[in-house]
Amino acid sequence: MLFIESAIYFFNMEQSIENKLIKADNAFQIWRKVPFAERQQLIAKAAEILKAHSQKFGEIITTEMNKPISQSVAEVEKCALMMNYYAHAENILKPEKIDSEYTFSEVHYIPKGVILGVMPWNFPFWQVLRFAIPAILSGNTVVLKHASICFGSGNAIEKIFEEAGFPEGIFQNLEVGHKEVKEILEHEVVKGVSLTGSGKAGGEVASIAGMNIKKSVLELGGSDAFIVLNDADLDEAAKVGAQARLQNCGQTCVAAKRFIIDETIEAEFLPKFIEEYKKYVPGDPLDKETKLGGMARPDLADDLEDQFKRALENGAEIIIPLERISPNEFKPGLIRVKEGNPILQEELFGPLGMVMVAKNDEEALQIANDIPFGLSNSVWTKSKDRQQFFIEGLESGTVNINRMTSSDPRFPFGGTKASGYGTELSLIALKEFVTPKTIVGN
Ligand code: NDP
Repeated sequence: MLFIESAIYFFNMEQSIENKLIKADNAFQIWRKVPFAERQQLIAKAAEILKAHSQKFGEIITTEMNKPISQSVAEVEKCALMMNYYAHAENILKPEKIDSEYTFSEVHYIPKGVILGVMPWNFPFWQVLRFAIPAILSGNTVVLKHASICFGSGNAIEKIFEEAGFPEGIFQNLEVGHKEVKEILEHEVVKGVSLTGSGKAGGEVASIAGMNIKKSVLELGGSDAFIVLNDADLDEAAKVGAQARLQNCGQTCVAAKRFIIDETIEAEFLPKFIEEYKKYVPGDPLDKETKLGGMARPDLADDLEDQFKRALENGAEIIIPLERISPNEFKPGLIRVKEGNPILQEELFGPLGMVMVAKNDEEALQIANDIPFGLSNSVWTKSKDRQQFFIEGLESGTVNINRMTSSDPRFPFGGTKASGYGTELSLIALKEFVTPKTIVGN
């Protein structure tokens, strides 16, 4: 009896996913013909809804993954800003004429169809919309597999699309676990996937996409350097550095994770940095004044604690101890790490920073690049020549000078090396899920 009931349950579950995929494909057949400017109007409407209810949506985020409410509301507002950017963006998908000896020669940009988003919990609204908005503006439809702790955010986003007046089926939240991703991605109507998350999940999903000859975009982890040279504004670098590491409880792919300090200013910079760092104390995430919440899940806190122990076993020294004060809360930690420590090959996704010391600019650059990842680095110096040296030498998708990394809808966002491939944000993202179709003739 039990067996029959569970068989029925699985049959129903699969059928409901199948129905949603078919609905997304039917919606695509209509949506692909809707003019770019009309799609933009609907995106502008959705942005208005986000802005008008940023507190309500922020509370969903905070409740699901413990982000301090001020940061959750800021996340929602940033989504609205990004959507307004696309709502007024130039249509770079118009047919392009190409000079040739033929009577006509053009490129048309054809949307691919239903695109799957596999998204994480660290920015439950931003990660989803950052991928979905350009994909939808290009004429695709989207199905979302959100992180298992963020189904409430996924459903709220689906509702925003409905309320903005998008045709049904343009954006659907699937509420499935990660085991179901393979079957969904293999489905014939699904034409591509964008994943933000760990390298492990990215590798597995990209393999499925590859086996099925489907396009994938991967935004994976990082271990970004925050390089402070001896002519930098040290007060500002200390303040911004602490924020760059500890915002969102350190659970950000582009968080500063390794602080590479010029040895001649170590003694002056470190006390300033520690002072700023200690301003981040865990508090109630629903309190507006709280700067540091708990981690999203206790098992992620276990992982961070384990990384901290392993770093120490391999020679790291404690500057500020990482102190666990509840299943998912820490007082932030800071460790001094030397090259060769295996921890440098991993991403520390939580409130634990690493300090390294460099003898000169060449060594700082070498240390910065000596990791598997290549997402976004930050360099602090007033010298134009030194800025140029790092701009040319750093192996990452973004280089920031005298600022921390924070994505901006106007600029491309993405990594190199094990941080993934493909571009999000900017006009370039509009071309990730389209096929350039060449038309030539007389
Ligand atoms: P995951 O990469 O496991 O989760 C991200 C998303 O991928 C979730 O929707 C998850 O679903 C899904 N997923 C996980 N495994 C698979 C799979 N095999 N096939 C298909 N989809 C999959 O991240 P975790 O939550 O486990 O965090 C672990 C680490 O990943 C972090 O400590 C951090 O280092 C990194 N990470 C990086 C992020 C970034 O912004 N680059 C964001 C989140 C994590 P489900 O929730 O159902 O497991």
